[in-house]
Amino acid sequence: MTDAQILNIGFDDTDSPKGMCTTFLAYKIVDLLKKQDTQFLDFPKLIRFNPNIPWKTRGNGAVSLQIKTKNPSKIKNQIKHLVEKYSDIKNGANPGLVFYESETIPKQFTAFSKLALWQLINRKQAKIFAAKNNLEFFYQGNGQGLIGAIGAIGYDFSDHTLELLSYRKNSKFGTKRQLFKQSVKSMQEKTFPHTFNSFDNKKNKILIMPHGPDPVFYGVRGENVNSLLHATKILKTNEKLAGYMIFKSNQGTGDHLKNELDIKNMKPYASGKITGIVSREPKIVEGGHVFFSIRVNDNEIWCAVYKPTGMSSVALGLIQGDKVCVGGGIRKSSKIYPRILNLEFIDVIYLEKNLVNSNPTCQHCNKKMKSKGKNQGYQCIKCNKKSTNKILLETPRTIKKQLYLPNVSAHRHLSRPLQRIGKVNKESKFDESISWFHIYGN
Ligand SMILES: [Zn+2]
Repeated sequence: MTDAQILNIGFDDTDSPKGMCTTFLAYKIVDLLKKQDTQFLDFPKLIRFNPNIPWKTRGNGAVSLQIKTKNPSKIKNQIKHLVEKYSDIKNGANPGLVFYESETIPKQFTAFSKLALWQLINRKQAKIFAAKNNLEFFYQGNGQGLIGAIGAIGYDFSDHTLELLSYRKNSKFGTKRQLFKQSVKSMQEKTFPHTFNSFDNKKNKILIMPHGPDPVFYGVRGENVNSLLHATKILKTNEKLAGYMIFKSNQGTGDHLKNELDIKNMKPYASGKITGIVSREPKIVEGGHVFFSIRVNDNEIWCAVYKPTGMSSVALGLIQGDKVCVGGGIRKSSKIYPRILNLEFIDVIYLEKNLVNSNPTCQHCNKKMKSKGKNQGYQCIKCNKKSTNKILLETPRTIKKQLYLPNVSAHRHLSRPLQRIGKVNKESKFDESISWFHIYGN
């Protein structure tokens, strides 16, 4: 193409709990652009941002596209129109849309994107950033969507995964989805480890299918295009689907927990990790949740492990003096507790010896001696043998020096699954001959 411009497009917060979905809007935009003289330079990107922000839309995901076009102004108008049409504003969506014409993405975009992954960024900051950096931007509602829209353009992947999202026909929106459980199970067995988090074997539960009114039928996550396409051939449903699109994503990368939290400056809703020594014994509360605290230098932070994560028995197995690296999100202080780190992983680095003071054992009878009273020593009730001091007994530890992760059902979009630990995806290069977008014929 001659005189073609590279156009970056970012949008977010077009959905609401009652319907629609930002990825579906992306699918509609791509469908429209594909019918014109447009060159796609990469997969559409589905970027998940800080999952610990309470007012995020479901999953806090934004989308960006990078294309080459001779007629950017025409395309911008078409996209603006589609964003207006497909945003669920009456149900609380606050869409943001940005355009940036450039082949390269400046460093400050990447920095902004990183902050959105770890912190709470306010809307005003996003508006100031957009104006300062000559972004063309549009928003409705309160403009919350601008943060993700800018962040999605600026995201710098150190690792990535792909997700194939399939969409339903309009007539099926809001109706019950039927996907054969056995086919999902079988798909996972056949495509693992090139796909991930499709089926929870422990709970016998499908993980790839949403339950709400949105247009997504299922989403399969994995490492490369071929595995995803293979997976869709194994999945069985009676429903005729409209089409699918493959996104490049930071899902499953654990990128939101790479940030080192500063214990002296724990901002509410921040995500990240921190290493410290267990300073208060774990306590289990009603509901099966476990609380303990860790110390870093002279500062302490409470940690919470919620029962659905499946990590509460690990937390209960910790003792004072253990060294752990823990990751998660900071919850705002409440009446009962100060700021708490909600854990998304526990990496046990050092296990302290579990020594317990105990009454001495009678060598002769192999029985625990009884105390004779304060400072009176101990005596065997069978043979009357005496001893003066308590002894230290070492109790074996119930946990190991290893990384503990939540149950797959409790994973967040960004959580790095066990099979992806240490992995950097290099399998999925984009070119337009790949079957990354498809509308099914009837
Ligand atoms: Zn005895």
